[in-house]
Amino acid sequence: MAVQFKDYYETLGVPRDATEDEIKQAYRRLARKYHPDVNPGDKSAEERFKEINEAYEVLSDPEKRKKYDALGANWKAGADFTPPPGTYAFDLGELFGGGGRVGGFSDFFHILFGGGPRGGTGFRFSARGADVESEITLTLEEAHRGASRTVTVPLEEECPACGGTGTREKNSCTACGGSGTSMRIERFTVNIPPGARDGSVIRVPGRGGAGLGGGERGDLYLHIRLLPHETFRLRDGADVEVEVPVAPWEALLGARIEVPTLDGVVEVRVPPNSQGGQMLRLRGKGMAKPGGGRGDQYVKLKIVVPPKPSDQERELFEKLAAVSDFRPREAAPGGA
Ligand SMILES: [Zn+2]
Repeated sequence: MAVQFKDYYETLGVPRDATEDEIKQAYRRLARKYHPDVNPGDKSAEERFKEINEAYEVLSDPEKRKKYDALGANWKAGADFTPPPGTYAFDLGELFGGGGRVGGFSDFFHILFGGGPRGGTGFRFSARGADVESEITLTLEEAHRGASRTVTVPLEEECPACGGTGTREKNSCTACGGSGTSMRIERFTVNIPPGARDGSVIRVPGRGGAGLGGGERGDLYLHIRLLPHETFRLRDGADVEVEVPVAPWEALLGARIEVPTLDGVVEVRVPPNSQGGQMLRLRGKGMAKPGGGRGDQYVKLKIVVPPKPSDQERELFEKLAAVSDFRPREAAPGGA
């Protein structure tokens, strides 16, 4: 929103350190000279009269004058003026279609002081900062237990060296190259609560982009990605599945075996006469659920034989083969 800078001191023909009385005198003199009643039909006089009134509106009001003076003395009348972020009141009419213009004052005046003269419309415009999105990758264990991550977010702020004006002592601000903004990398820790899933979104309030006109900062949205796990497979909801190899005699005789869970190894009883592919359910050993509670873990039995059986093992299997009347392809596994 670039507008023309107005040099109100120049308009009234007074020095920047003019007293209130000097300003008032200059105004009266000029107002008499350019008053529409004195110059009927003279458009340029009418224009001057408006400018004089606007200048007086600002310089006669100690608060407005202070705010105006804060812009610095390095402005030339007519120069492109962009209000420094986070400092000024905006006229809503100015931003949304030009309605609500009061008293014929300039855009510059409206940007600086909002609604208009004598109290104005009372609107103050401020804009909330932009929301920022980022991605975080977690292992299944981290998602289960909760994790903390250091997040870095680039933050564009008002340049601290020049207060966002882009100029210092009549020169372009060297700190920001005249842009009035500076970038800094913000680093902070985010705690991800237990129960995050692939695609979960975590909102971190107030860690997004900087606001404008005193507006609050936007939010940071962290999108969670889960790394595939080499042991655990995530099933529906919070259930996990793990495949565990068992020896044929463990499956047949039953056994106590060690099984990995998200919380470490637990001992699990394999019941006698278990079959390959059979699932054992470990209640409450699955993933943490977002609101609390746990899913289940399913243990899938995979029957494996010794890859390099000893002579003795081979002999025993030969004996078993000789005595067994089990015909695995004639009856459904586990059937009568
Ligand atoms: Zn600067």
